[in-house]
Amino acid sequence: MPQGLSHIVLHACTADDFDSTLQFYTSLGFEKILSQEYTDGADERRIWLKLKAADHTLATDITLKLTLNGAAIPRPPHSADIDWSLEETGLVLTTSDIQQVKVKLETIGASYQSKDVGEHHKIFALDPLENLIIFTDKPAPAHLIDTSQHALNNGAELPKHARKIGVLTSGGDAPGMNAAVRAVVRYGLSKGCDVYAVYEGYQGLVDGGKCIRKMDWKSVRGWLSIGGTTIGTARCMPFKTREGRLQAAENLVKEGISSLIVCGGDGSLTGADVFRSEWGGLIDELKQNERITPEEADTYQHLTIVGLVGSIDNDMSSTDITIGAITSLHRICESVDSINTTALSHSRAFVIEVMGRHCGWLALMAGIATGADFVFIPERPPAGDDWETAMCEVAHRHREMGKRKTVIIVAEGAIDRSLNPIKAKHIKNILTDRLGLDTRVTTLGHTQRGGSPAAFDRILATTQGVEAVDAVLRSSPDTPSPLIGISSNKVTSGPLMKAVELTHEVAKAISEKNFARAMELRDPQFAEEYEAYNTSTILDDKSHLLPEHQRLRVAILHVGAPAGGMNAATRTAVRYALNRGHRPFGVYNGFPGLVRGSFEELTWISVDGWTSHGGSELGTNRAVPGKDVDMGMVAYQIQQHKIQAVILIGGFEAFSSLMKLEEAREKYPSLCIPVCHIPATVSNNVPGTDYSLGSDTSLNAIVESCDSIVQSARSSRRRVFVVEVQGGKSGYLAVEAGLASGANTIYIPEEGISLSRLQSDVKHLMALYMDDAADRSEGRIILRTEGVSETYTTDVISNILKDEGHHLFDSRTAVLGHIQQGGTPSPMDRIRATRLAMRAMQFMEKHTSEALNTAFEQKRDEPTPIELTKSKDSIAVVGISGVDVIYSSVQDLLPKTDLKNRKPRGAWWYEHRPLVDMLSGRGLFTKQQQH
Ligand code: ADP
Repeated sequence: MPQGLSHIVLHACTADDFDSTLQFYTSLGFEKILSQEYTDGADERRIWLKLKAADHTLATDITLKLTLNGAAIPRPPHSADIDWSLEETGLVLTTSDIQQVKVKLETIGASYQSKDVGEHHKIFALDPLENLIIFTDKPAPAHLIDTSQHALNNGAELPKHARKIGVLTSGGDAPGMNAAVRAVVRYGLSKGCDVYAVYEGYQGLVDGGKCIRKMDWKSVRGWLSIGGTTIGTARCMPFKTREGRLQAAENLVKEGISSLIVCGGDGSLTGADVFRSEWGGLIDELKQNERITPEEADTYQHLTIVGLVGSIDNDMSSTDITIGAITSLHRICESVDSINTTALSHSRAFVIEVMGRHCGWLALMAGIATGADFVFIPERPPAGDDWETAMCEVAHRHREMGKRKTVIIVAEGAIDRSLNPIKAKHIKNILTDRLGLDTRVTTLGHTQRGGSPAAFDRILATTQGVEAVDAVLRSSPDTPSPLIGISSNKVTSGPLMKAVELTHEVAKAISEKNFARAMELRDPQFAEEYEAYNTSTILDDKSHLLPEHQRLRVAILHVGAPAGGMNAATRTAVRYALNRGHRPFGVYNGFPGLVRGSFEELTWISVDGWTSHGGSELGTNRAVPGKDVDMGMVAYQIQQHKIQAVILIGGFEAFSSLMKLEEAREKYPSLCIPVCHIPATVSNNVPGTDYSLGSDTSLNAIVESCDSIVQSARSSRRRVFVVEVQGGKSGYLAVEAGLASGANTIYIPEEGISLSRLQSDVKHLMALYMDDAADRSEGRIILRTEGVSETYTTDVISNILKDEGHHLFDSRTAVLGHIQQGGTPSPMDRIRATRLAMRAMQFMEKHTSEALNTAFEQKRDEPTPIELTKSKDSIAVVGISGVDVIYSSVQDLLPKTDLKNRKPRGAWWYEHRPLVDMLSGRGLFTKQQQH
């Protein structure tokens, strides 16, 4: 064991995994040294195993602790197609007989890959928990190593100049650029690279000198929360000329930098690609002119470029979302929400112009999130030539329904079918002249670029910044420059130039009036969201009405704790229902309200403005039918009110209700109707979805609180705050908020807390504070999920830190409690709510149409049947999976759900976990201290 490591802990999620892992290690020669197996509770199993150095060719004994931990997240399975030697960590065991290991692994049926490195042999095997075990016959101490350095370029050490990375921000500034630079700097340093910031974008590259500065760990401290770009950006004309780029190349060679990470829009990325494609010629010219030496020309033959998309417009193809767009949407929604209140007071109309150049993403999303009456975007000009009349009809219909305000959102690039610009002033004149509305124009302008980045942008920029460094280290002269994007919730790396070309194609398609192609080229959700907007906001002209016999009576209820987006989802479901001729009923106070018969028919105007309302307008309750309230009464009231479809909006209690309702279908025919659950909980612990409504609002609330806490500490004291966040047995909020607020570490139920972990955290904090300037105050944050440990409470941890920190730092607690539910729902939660609610209503139609049609055709005179469907698919969660909306039936979800810990098994966000500690300097920083 290396110093400081007493044993390695392995968590098995299921008893089967536990047993097979035990068998795996014992057959490799590990011996049981202590076992705590209780027969009464299957979840209480711990076994210590030892591999003795003396019996094997090991430098030290190795001790493993294997636990059965239902809350642990299983590792994703390794694909046999990828090279396991590229894994970041593994347990290295030395052996004198690699052949015998192979035989053993084959006997027990374990998967392995073998590799020969010079005269030595290595075997990469997986234990049943998907941990990597590396057997090597190269004599070396056995220990848990970080193989990542060796993983670069398949083990070849990169030359020194290849590990000098420049990073610059260019084009229009975007919130989150700082987070990207911070991640590049810190992750780059942790990978053994030297990172240089190029100040003032390409201008800094051309000017060189003081504009190119070496960064250290501390240079980027606190940057996560700062909007814009601290290293500056500029529009640079000289870089558009070859002479300018020649100068830039000379400066890079002189600084010894041969890799460049560029964060900017399509212009900046085009520039980057031009630079790379010319590089060989530039180097030759510099050599010929003796501006660089032949040796330098030899060393710097290749330039590596990696692109990150920083743009508030979200106009780049090949990525679902760009860094900065979500924050910009936050600013727009804050402004429109404020305008809504004054518009309402004076019964005014407002025309609001938003940014976006040729892209209507900001305008459309703002329209959805604020419930604007009409939206104009470049990709989908209004149908017909007389859009003025169409718009006036919609505004008039809304006024007729009782609306006191009219809000129209126009993208700055909005056009009509003949490509004539649609301008805010013109719309104003139309509304004033034709409808007699007191109309004002507001151009939001540069407020849209500003402010502290939203949690989403901080996380996006951080994970993409990390990937950009990896892309640099993976690159070879033959690979095209990569663009780091995000697709279906996963960070991606694709050819930069193709993305830029596709982006330009949108403008081309629009100029050719090929609007269908323009819509297609946008991110996959764009068209669906456009439809959701139309069906939920614009009162229809009755063209979408269903035949009378297909119209449903739909009940909507909120279950569990309040979460941002519950009201927005209800509003969309109601509006969609009305557009189709259904009758929506709100049920007050969840299932207890339902059994009391607390139903109210909801109208178009009764849900107006709900998109921006936090909490739950209907009132929510944790009671689960069949457990806390009588199922018979639920069935009775559903039958009494002739309800034919139920939408549950809520968290894990809503999922539990869904299970109970399915069970009860056998007994009660009135429950044989479609039931759809829209996940809404800050903990994001509902199976069947990547995101629950409310989780984004909550993340933003936590991150804002953490920013304030750090600011307070920084102004007065060296202080570590232990911040307690919600989440039950799910570490989602702690992991994502940890990444977005730059927390020092996090304690989550998936890992638990131990004394040794606390000791190492204290050591790390001491190292950090010792490195701070003597007179400097500094605040640091540790996030602790409420359900992580009964022993190590927030107070206990804080007291331990206080004592152990001695004179170096003190500690305080902050329990965020209900603040985490957030005030106003975030734009993302509002948009997700709109999308999910629309799909929930479509689900109801799909699962009732057959029964209703048959009944209609067969017995026209009889009343509609009570029982509409018993299909297992008709009782489901409607959730987000990557870019798609999916329905998962209760039956499908049960095997994927950890009912005891109330959460899904496995989670996409868990892979963010190691980044929290890594970006706070764990490991690297302590190493630097020792030198
Ligand atoms: P954005 O990156 O936000 O699209 P711009 O289009 O203004 O912003 O581009 C930013 C900078 O990128 C420009 O000022 C210029 O220095 C550089 N650039 C843009 N296009 C090119 C090009 N075709 N060749 C070289 N440099 C370019």
